[in-house]
Amino acid sequence: MAAGSPPPPPPPPPHFVLVPLVAQGHIIPLVDLARLLAARGARATVVTTPLNVDRLRGVAEQAARAGLPLEFVGLPFPPAGSGLPQDCQNADMVADNSQFLPFFFALRELAGPFDAYVRSLAPRPSCIISDWCSPWTAGVASSLGIPRLFFHGPSCFFALCEIMAVDHGLLELIAAAGDDERHLVPGMPVPVTVTKATPPGLFCYPGTELLRREAMEAMRTADGAVLNTFSDLEAQFLEGYEAALGKPVWALGPLSLCNRDEDSTTSRGKTAVDGKQAIMAWLDEQAPGSVVYVSFGSVARKLPKQLFEIGHGLEDSGRSFLWVVKEREAAAPEVREWLDALEARTAGRGLVVRGWAPQLAVLSHRAVGGFVTHCGWNSVLESIAHGVPVVTWPHFSDQFLNERLVVDVLGVGVPVGVASPVMIFDDESAPVARGDIARAVSALMGGGAEADERRRKAKEYGEKARRAMEEGGSSYENLTRLIQSFTRSED
Ligand code: UDP
Repeated sequence: MAAGSPPPPPPPPPHFVLVPLVAQGHIIPLVDLARLLAARGARATVVTTPLNVDRLRGVAEQAARAGLPLEFVGLPFPPAGSGLPQDCQNADMVADNSQFLPFFFALRELAGPFDAYVRSLAPRPSCIISDWCSPWTAGVASSLGIPRLFFHGPSCFFALCEIMAVDHGLLELIAAAGDDERHLVPGMPVPVTVTKATPPGLFCYPGTELLRREAMEAMRTADGAVLNTFSDLEAQFLEGYEAALGKPVWALGPLSLCNRDEDSTTSRGKTAVDGKQAIMAWLDEQAPGSVVYVSFGSVARKLPKQLFEIGHGLEDSGRSFLWVVKEREAAAPEVREWLDALEARTAGRGLVVRGWAPQLAVLSHRAVGGFVTHCGWNSVLESIAHGVPVVTWPHFSDQFLNERLVVDVLGVGVPVGVASPVMIFDDESAPVARGDIARAVSALMGGGAEADERRRKAKEYGEKARRAMEEGGSSYENLTRLIQSFTRSED
């Protein structure tokens, strides 16, 4: 540079295009990541369906007020001719199991509109970060020469089990095995056994083989992986995963901790949280650590007889509880009446939320001392990030292995111990016994050395989680490096 000439302008901020799978549990962490990227000087665009853009209006408005370069783009979905109802633009709107596969297959049709959208951008984005379950972005990225990372939503423990199972042909072995056969996952730093009902892969249900092949191929051909976890929680699995993948793995979580205002309304992609003020006022009246929070994520739905067993179990535990029952589950008049009667019987110590709860605000409330969870990774990590131990009751996909991590490796969970899985929607055969719920809740919330040790460990992980996300912490610094690595230097 000649003496006296002005310094060169700073390089333009990198532009990340993020593509979540259109299911609430996949959108939430990627939107958190988009907000973090925008807050840290990058530009972020989230590509989803028009319904989700609408649901995320609050986040967009919040970002606009703060002057953050964050935007949302909706692509046409469901495609014409898919047979799916026009209002079915998110997995939690799917009515039953018979629509679930067509929904997943229809998502692949988004490749065309996505290609057209990315081609319309000038300059081209610096990087595409797409959900591991949205492999249809891979062709678009490679044809345009845009680097692509995949976002793997579950625990790194699950991600490593999955890649080991695929590399060692374990999925085929399990598919051909008897129902009770147990197999050890090879190459894991700790012993992990799996069965046909608790497989080490998301797409392990009949009819999903093509989806699995496409997802695995898109992972192999990506430039790296982004995970919602942190090094102090899963160091040994992160190391193994990076080695097995042979690509950089960025641990950037817990992403939910970017919600500093604890506002679960606008930042979580639902248009409405049901009765937040009343929930928080009820929690304010409870003793510290006395309430068990009960919620099974955004997708899984239960039949009335299963809900009654859960309700009886909570009642029999004698503990205070805050239980989220989905709107669709609570719609039947007999369920509505039964829940009203349960609240009346447990007056003061039981509250049922019918709809969508402000989960982060609940978990960060001092009254909450435990969480009965289906082990969706967002819920598990949000609980850990707030120092809350859990009762584990996995239902499907990665949740069984998340349970193993939580109970066997981290030591912060009590298994509910229901032997076979509950399918996603309305599975008649799903066994639920009030005694199992009552026993697990009592063990979690009670006294004694084991319960105290779980609480201590959960608290310790909560503190480490917060440190990971602060300046100088592992996840914070990983995000800095990620942004830097996609910042174009001036030639
Ligand atoms: N969630 C919420 N309120 C509810 C139910 C769920 O805010 O009433 C959020 C929860 O905080 C988490 C996500 O929805 O971020 C659920 O994701 P998870 O991975 O736990 O389960 P999934 O919905 O994918 O089965």
